[in-house]
Amino acid sequence: MRAAIFREYGGADVLHLDDVPDPAAGPGEIRVAVQAAALNHLDVWTRRGLPDHTLPHIGGSDIAGIVDALGAGVTSLATGTRVVVNPTVSCGTCEWCVRGEDSLCTTFRIIGEHLQGGFAEYVVVPAANLLALPAGFDVERAAAAPLAFLTAWRGLVSRARLQSGESVLITGASGGVATAAIALARHFGARVFAITTTDHVDQVRALGADHVFDRNEPAHRKQLFDATGRRGVDVVFDSVGAATWHDNLRALSRGGRLVVYGATTGHAASTDLRFIFWKQLDIMGTTMSNRREFADVMRLVFDGAVAPVIDVVWPLDRIRDAHLRLERGEQFGKIVLVP
Ligand code: ZN
Repeated sequence: MRAAIFREYGGADVLHLDDVPDPAAGPGEIRVAVQAAALNHLDVWTRRGLPDHTLPHIGGSDIAGIVDALGAGVTSLATGTRVVVNPTVSCGTCEWCVRGEDSLCTTFRIIGEHLQGGFAEYVVVPAANLLALPAGFDVERAAAAPLAFLTAWRGLVSRARLQSGESVLITGASGGVATAAIALARHFGARVFAITTTDHVDQVRALGADHVFDRNEPAHRKQLFDATGRRGVDVVFDSVGAATWHDNLRALSRGGRLVVYGATTGHAASTDLRFIFWKQLDIMGTTMSNRREFADVMRLVFDGAVAPVIDVVWPLDRIRDAHLRLERGEQFGKIVLVP
């Protein structure tokens, strides 16, 4: 099969379109003929090199396609079924899995990071990771949804327990998870404040964010605080990391919750602890999701209640361009690749 593969870590030029052997479905697994796969920042981190990672590697965590071959013992789906892939793989037997917390699994893995991904003609995944697409549901839209929406759902719904009428600040608002978070926050009736770059202010506003602030405007944090009636927001949803940490703690209202799902600008930040106890803040981390959260949020996507934002749909041949576009922050929403 043709695959976008890298055999060493580095810049986008380590990516090559090569012919590699077709993968075979083992017991309990299904081979999917990939029809669309979307790019995430995770693909860039993986390409640059991550701990506990092995080469050669095929990236791609967000995958939709057709069931092509069944491994031994698989009866859940027939060949020819159109499917979307849950990118998270957990052991099912450790203390955390038994509690239903798949993403806390001691051997938690992500398809496209620890396991070979979908930037190829075929990918093999556990049968339990597949969800059938409703008739007529667009395969590119399906591929654009999983990682962004399951991350935003767990962060806002399961962790922060965002309520109708509450206010939420979404930083880095042009990213895939952030645009999914805007859609979910609106769906749940929250008031959405967003911070993005100058180029994306109008696009974020078009998604339905109530107040959008330009990160390049020096007074944007003051403008934001004023727009909350000098109260602050109930929830901050952030993966910018070190660069926004202090301002995010300041932006929270009394009793506010800070949800952290990444740290793009750096993972070492200092905290003024007075914010924590005086405003009685909750700080909560989140990553990926469990199976039920994946199924719950994909049902909303299938119903059309929320929709992924698609930046471009390109042939897989343009994998290097796709990585560069994401690294430069030129995209708005998901970059989808078609093999
Ligand atoms: Zn486990």
